[in-house]
Amino acid sequence: MKLTTKVFLALLIGAVAGATLNSLGQHEGRLMEALDTGGKLFLRLLKMVIVPLIFTSIVHAVAGLGDLRKLTRIGARTFVYYFTTTGIAVFLGLAAVNLARPGVGADLGLKGVPERLQEQGPPSVSDLLLRVIPENPVDALARTDVLQIIFFALVLGVALGMLGAKGQRTREVIEELNDAILLIIGWVLKLVPYGVALLMTRALGRAGLDVFLPLLKYLGTVIGALAVHALLVYPFALIFLAKVKPLQFFRGVSEALVTAFSTSSSSATLPVTMRCLQENVGVSERVSFFVLPIGATVNMDGTALYEAVAAMFIAQAYGIDLTLTQQLLVFLTATLAAIGAAGIPEAGLFTMVIVLNAVGLPTEGIGLILAVDRILDMCRTTVNVLGDTVGATLVARLEGELNAPD
Ligand code: ASP
Repeated sequence: MKLTTKVFLALLIGAVAGATLNSLGQHEGRLMEALDTGGKLFLRLLKMVIVPLIFTSIVHAVAGLGDLRKLTRIGARTFVYYFTTTGIAVFLGLAAVNLARPGVGADLGLKGVPERLQEQGPPSVSDLLLRVIPENPVDALARTDVLQIIFFALVLGVALGMLGAKGQRTREVIEELNDAILLIIGWVLKLVPYGVALLMTRALGRAGLDVFLPLLKYLGTVIGALAVHALLVYPFALIFLAKVKPLQFFRGVSEALVTAFSTSSSSATLPVTMRCLQENVGVSERVSFFVLPIGATVNMDGTALYEAVAAMFIAQAYGIDLTLTQQLLVFLTATLAAIGAAGIPEAGLFTMVIVLNAVGLPTEGIGLILAVDRILDMCRTTVNVLGDTVGATLVARLEGELNAPD
């Protein structure tokens, strides 16, 4: 059986098993614990390779470019794509929430802000900017601070590239390390179907389905807008800009999408995303090594859209009418909050404090949407990863590095 088919089957089996356990009232207990441990083991294996993968793939890709102008060109193309699509996503979210008005009249009973969110406090814009440059790269690597790792890897890659013949040995070492990591990833990927099944069973087994009901309209608004973005905006970019057939493309990256859905983590999905793009879509190593790790961290269309809808929903539920200027502020801060969110589960919930603060909404509002955030996290992460794959394909096309898949 092909891996993709296996992964889909796993998703289905996990969903059915989870829903069954849930309806039997098995929310906790030994079985859930065992499933939990199994799911965590799988996530650990994926996480284990993320730091070395991001570091070696970016240094290798950038050092190999040789010419700083090439790097600037790929970088510029990547960022134009990221900002444009994220902007469109937030706009769609705002349009949807203004049309559907899911929060108006919603009487949800505040559940209060969880402690972990209260402790955090909102990061300011300057905090976000300062966070990019590591004081100590080794520390950044140890803490899995992905933005800082990317920054250092970019700088080191440029320097190694500029050393020319003198940097040859180190470049080769990094390349070999990168190959070894990719080999390990190949082994871990064999476990994807089992991991997906476990994570799905756990997620659905735990979720009390009754919490969805009062928030159905909100759920529908976020998921509907995400669907429009995924099924209209990306295919448009694929057909007209990347000149790729969308159906074939979606089939090629489906394994990455299912992994994103079940792990709720763009970073944990990164190894799968890279494999899919290189093997099934034909994106060159150089482009995928450069574009994808950055994308998994800063390009989050799904999260940006969700942040905008959620903030507006909270405003509506409180009976606060946001002016056009305030909505513009939501637009800007939702984009920023998505860039600042790490590619891990629930990261968007934390950075939403930025959006709420910017327009003077109470942070307690987050309590309104907590109950359904896990399911929305799964959906927005899938769109985040899809956005990365479309971006890498588009950049590869523009760079003349999109080949027919093997
Ligand atoms: N879980 C998302 C991701 O990894 C981030 C978020 O919470 O929105 O892409």
